[in-house]
Amino acid sequence: MASATTTTIAQESVPISLKTTNVANKDSKVAKATEAVYDWDTFKFAPIRESQVSRAMTSRYFKDLDKYAESDIVIVGAGSSGLTAAYILGKSRPDLKIAIIEANVAVGGGCFLGGQLFSSMVLRKPADVFIKELGLEYEDEGNYIVVKHAALFITKLCSKVLELPNVKLFNATCVEDLITRPTETGVRVAGVVTNWTLVSMHHDDQSCMDPNTINAKVIISCTGHDGPMGAFCVKRLVSQGLIKRNLMGCLDMNKAEDAIVTKTREVFPGLVVAGMELSECDSSNRMGPTFGAMVLSGIKAAEEALNVFDLRAKQDAESY
Ligand SMILES: Cc1cc2nc3c(=O)[nH]c(=O)nc-3n(C[C@H](O)[C@H](O)[C@H](O)COP(=O)(O)OP(=O)(O)OC[C@H]3O[C@@H](n4cnc5c(N)ncnc54)[C@H](O)[C@@H]3O)c2cc1C
Repeated sequence: MASATTTTIAQESVPISLKTTNVANKDSKVAKATEAVYDWDTFKFAPIRESQVSRAMTSRYFKDLDKYAESDIVIVGAGSSGLTAAYILGKSRPDLKIAIIEANVAVGGGCFLGGQLFSSMVLRKPADVFIKELGLEYEDEGNYIVVKHAALFITKLCSKVLELPNVKLFNATCVEDLITRPTETGVRVAGVVTNWTLVSMHHDDQSCMDPNTINAKVIISCTGHDGPMGAFCVKRLVSQGLIKRNLMGCLDMNKAEDAIVTKTREVFPGLVVAGMELSECDSSNRMGPTFGAMVLSGIKAAEEALNVFDLRAKQDAESY
């Protein structure tokens, strides 16, 4: 028998009865936690036509593609270093258009877990200053801090980045080549060649899937160390003989973190490299599960990128 407080499961042709007494009960525990209390018996969404949903998405996406085809700065990779760079740039230069290209559907790179798939994230000081600025809680252990879950750090950082009006994240989109331009002394990076990641993964078995492009004055590459997708921009320039590759060194936390931060720089004209991708360029040590260097490298990358921005803007104005 169905009463006001029970749920009756349908048996063959008997309809489901989902009656409840919790009808927009403003005194319930749920109502004390959220404004979103409804009368479930009369509940109904506002009507919509399917095409409205399609247009709501596509009109905005294609407008963004148009707007960011000419970006000021492109960040490749939305891991911890890339998102930190995006946050600092977007916040400090609201006049700039910043596009983030992330190959995965989900952002965060190797930052959803700590070492060996554990939860906590360890950051050595002075990275605590940035963590405090994000408004994250942490345990202070003296020389280092611990955020209770790496996912908490990356999701908080990502939400702050996505709120910035001058930053656009194109996820499920990968950089599959770089745009270059001749200069008086050689060549410089002047943009990125993009494609849907799923398309990019099928160049071997489908033909003629040409990419798209984004011109930019500065590219910041944060694609992580070597792996299925990692160190992309460094490896691409190495394949052209434009820079030399030095494989990541063995683990040494004390040397590694300082090296990544202090060497964050424009490694090739137009290309700033940050985070673990740098270790494939400089042979710096791996650091295991400490993340302070990713954050501080992202901040330094933002500074380095702004330093070269004006020069690149001038060069771009003189070419096509
Ligand atoms: C198995 C494993 C072992 C690791 N060991 C260590 C270690 O010993 N020491 C250490 O310091 N770190 C290690 N890491 C990495 C660790 O997660 C990093 O320290 C940290 O996440 C690096 O941050 P990042 O921002 O440099 O790059 P990541 O967090 O790796 O983020 C890179 C992002 O770039 C994206 N990307 C890559 N290529 C492209 C492309 N072509 N176009 C668009 N997007 C792209 C990726 O999808 C990813 O989201 C390891 C990671 C893994 C998976």
